[in-house]
Amino acid sequence: MGRGTIVVTALRYWREWRGRKLCRHWVCPKCQQPFGDKAELKQWERRQDIGIKSALFSGPVMRCAHCAEDYWFTWAGHLLDPGMRSAFQVVASKWTWDA
Ligand SMILES: [Zn+2]
Repeated sequence: MGRGTIVVTALRYWREWRGRKLCRHWVCPKCQQPFGDKAELKQWERRQDIGIKSALFSGPVMRCAHCAEDYWFTWAGHLLDPGMRSAFQVVASKWTWDA
């Protein structure tokens, strides 16, 4: 593992840590309101059997309490391209919060 790999890995975990802290403040693309405490959270991960050239490994799935729709985000807070969802699967129905 070169130094570059370590930096990229650290960045990835930092983004995830920050995303978990901040995601309830993100805004629903439809309602334009923060998801807040009522949003239901799940998590997606890249499917093991699919090899794609992408830096995306996991992220949150947020269900808006207002419109009851699921939105797939990256940990950086960007909406995941719906065309990419087939490469990912929802792995956790509920988060366990260790923080
Ligand atoms: Zn909404």
